[in-house]
Amino acid sequence: MVRAIVGANWGDEGKGKITDMLAKESDIIVRFQGGSNAGHTIINNYGKFALHLLPSGVFYDHTTSIIGNGVALNIPYLIKEINSIVERGVPKPHILVSDRAQILMPYHVLFDTYEEARLAGKSFGSTKSGIAPFYSDKYAKIGIQVSELFDDDVIKEKVERICETKNVLLEHLYHKPLLDPEELLETCHQYRDMIAPYVCDVSSYLHDAIQEGKTILLEGQLGSLKDTDHGIYPMVTSSSTLAAYGAIGAGIPPYEIKDIITVVKAYSSAVGAGAFVSEIFGDQADELRRRGGDGGEFGATTGRPRRMGWFDAVATRYGCRIQGATEVAFTVLDVLGYLDEIPVCVGYEIDGEVTKNFPATVKLEKAKPVLTTLPGWKCDIRGIKKYEDLPENCRNYIEFVEKEIGVPITMVSNGPGRDDIILR
Ligand code: GDP
Repeated sequence: MVRAIVGANWGDEGKGKITDMLAKESDIIVRFQGGSNAGHTIINNYGKFALHLLPSGVFYDHTTSIIGNGVALNIPYLIKEINSIVERGVPKPHILVSDRAQILMPYHVLFDTYEEARLAGKSFGSTKSGIAPFYSDKYAKIGIQVSELFDDDVIKEKVERICETKNVLLEHLYHKPLLDPEELLETCHQYRDMIAPYVCDVSSYLHDAIQEGKTILLEGQLGSLKDTDHGIYPMVTSSSTLAAYGAIGAGIPPYEIKDIITVVKAYSSAVGAGAFVSEIFGDQADELRRRGGDGGEFGATTGRPRRMGWFDAVATRYGCRIQGATEVAFTVLDVLGYLDEIPVCVGYEIDGEVTKNFPATVKLEKAKPVLTTLPGWKCDIRGIKKYEDLPENCRNYIEFVEKEIGVPITMVSNGPGRDDIILR
């Protein structure tokens, strides 16, 4: 049985916590896209962790954690992350890395940084983790696959070819130091030795696991609106954030994904540039940011303050639809307990017309939010375990959202901890 956990919004919906929670009843957890560019915050018996590359299921000793072929694999980062959790008392996780995963190289980080600097005010707000240059190279067929590290001739030739094209850009576009093929080859040899213990034919491994009836979780990073195709292009990430891509990025048949748990945040937050219709500013935003998440809404990778907004029903309904959501986990609801009234965006006004459909970016840029207001519940709902025990206005808020998005909300998260969850 394969389940996917993905985000309906701009990321940071709390997928890490839901994955960690569901990992308890799972055998295998797979990361299928993205890289170390986003963070997942997990609070459990071992403490508080910000993971970037490891799947959020690494804290159990009965699980296998997999880096699928769709991931941007930063090898030193992965090793560092494994060591950092082991140092804090977590049992050494069982990790497998796809032999078809491609490697995020140090020059990808450099190119990301140089390009953001070149674009200056028009930059994409990249986390400078090298993700865009990595995926560009993958599709330009000058990426390095894990399997290639283990063939000396292949890797040597590849490195030379890479340096040829990269060095033209470094010299003439960025005016930066050139890459040295010998040094790069040495890096590849080091990476080979570091990753060797983990390499696996993941697709075949998962095929067998499915046959044996194992429970598999696919863990997505970011959310629908950051998807390269269906998000707010070009202010998107460079890999698909959708559950459908889980099949490709893990190497399994699409029809095996039976359940798509889509994580929806009770208010909005976004990092980086791009249209954000229900965005709020000033004191209102500061207060929500300060109270948001667990200790404030600041980027887990960069520490940047996140942009804040009210719940956006238009974007979230679309976000759920494009994921193919079968159920929704509704998160960080506890944060809204301070508000007398809670604004919710229920439509977009574009060129004088109101729509409930989420448009492509050019139109989205012109959209103004149509807001409605729901009464707040004015109390702390953390610690509540049963749906019926939630205040009436809180239940009304949940049921209002459920009706707007058209997908059953089966889980309500009312705090950052593993147990802060209400199952409906
Ligand atoms: P991810 O990228 O989707 O995994 O999201 P993050 O890990 O960045 O989660 C957002 C933040 O919200 C983290 O600091 C979590 O600890 C926190 N969090 C998750 N669920 C809840 C919740 O229900 N209530 C509160 N207050 N914080 C939560």
